[in-house]
Amino acid sequence: MAAPLLQAIRGMNDVLPTDSNIWRHVEKSLTDILFAYGYQEIRTPVVERTALFKRSIGEVTDIVEKEMYTFDDRNGDSLALRPEGTASCVRAALQSGLINQGIQRLWYAGPMFRRERPQKGRYRQFHQVGAEVFGLRGPDIDAEMITMTNRFWQKLGIKDVRLHVNSLGNLESRARYREALMAYLERHIEKLDTDSRQRFRKNPLRVLDSKNPDMQAIVNDAPHLAEYLDEPSWQHFQGLCDRLDMAGVSYVSDDKLVRGLDYYSDTVFEWITDSLGAQGAVCAGGRYDGLVSQLGGGQVPAAGFALGIERLVEILSDRQMRQRPHVYFVGVGDIVQMPLHQISEKLRDDIPGLRMIVNCGGGSFKSQFRRADKSGAVIALVLGEQELHDQSIVIKFLRTDARQEVVSYTQLAGRITEILNINKQQVE
Ligand code: ATP
Ligand code: MG
Repeated sequence: MAAPLLQAIRGMNDVLPTDSNIWRHVEKSLTDILFAYGYQEIRTPVVERTALFKRSIGEVTDIVEKEMYTFDDRNGDSLALRPEGTASCVRAALQSGLINQGIQRLWYAGPMFRRERPQKGRYRQFHQVGAEVFGLRGPDIDAEMITMTNRFWQKLGIKDVRLHVNSLGNLESRARYREALMAYLERHIEKLDTDSRQRFRKNPLRVLDSKNPDMQAIVNDAPHLAEYLDEPSWQHFQGLCDRLDMAGVSYVSDDKLVRGLDYYSDTVFEWITDSLGAQGAVCAGGRYDGLVSQLGGGQVPAAGFALGIERLVEILSDRQMRQRPHVYFVGVGDIVQMPLHQISEKLRDDIPGLRMIVNCGGGSFKSQFRRADKSGAVIALVLGEQELHDQSIVIKFLRTDARQEVVSYTQLAGRITEILNINKQQVE
């Protein structure tokens, strides 16, 4: 009896070759732009101490309360699979001393883990590209970051995303607003659902983030955060909006946008699309001036964002992005098998960037040619006994009806380069 097949963990997906080229295209497009803006890559471990996320994201957030994958290490330490990248970035910058070495513009990419209910656009292992800037108070850098993310969508050809921005105010403004909001919620405590009651006690701002439709009336009538912003907070927000206007980035000023994480202050933003149903947020971020000191560092202002690769790939999923070989190399007859590999290795030396599949496992001319055609290659090279004897190769055109050519070994690399105009193909 055959052994039962083992399946992947629910909500954790394989990326198969049909999709991996879209992934690579998305990742490269984003990182090219990040480098162009002077951001440098940082890589941190997937596993951290649970305490890091409790202290940064906040104890009463969905992520920490319900979604984090935590486990005890053999020595009893509580560890967690990272649910996001910001906390690790701050930890690494503090631990290495980077945070004291002037302004830092950093980016990262990698898997994140949250035990959410899996559905389209929402997974338990998902991938983010994110950026963090340390040492700048904004709003110039806030605007630059948002303008940079706008460039992501332009480069990927994604059109139907819109930007929501809001200000949570500085820490003083937030404290005054919190009091007013608590007083209001206290008066309506009977109407709050269980989740909101819990949030009300520990982090009342998050009641505004409730997804429960029954809570919308209460949320809509709540005091407006905007009315509690002090002068410096206003100036910061105005400075951001002015710069976005100047850069021609349109936005919706949305005072219900509070973000699920505890550590934000002043600027928060989200890019949203309608084309993904309920999972419409493709990118989110903001300023978090209090986080570095909350994690044991000094008063270092900071801002950042993260975006979900799966959701971008989903938007682009109808694009054909198969990575095709340029050349398929056919070798007919036992005697040519060793020379076939010798010649092909020489070609790889001579033509940097050449994508070539060399036939392995032998086979008749007909069956090898079928493989060549299926591979999507532009040309097939054929080495048979006669060619071996003549020190030549036959070039067959697979995508046009051009006549086949016979080329000597010495001219082969030059002729292939000519045909393929490799440099142009490499950029595709
Ligand atoms: P959402 O409102 O969709 O739950 P979020 O506010 O929890 O998003 P962030 O923690 O800000 O998301 O993460 C930034 C981005 O990462 C999101 O905008 C989204 O594109 C992506 N993302 C977050 N959670 C998931 C997930 N479980 N699966 C896939 N992508 C995700
Ligand atoms: Mg979420």
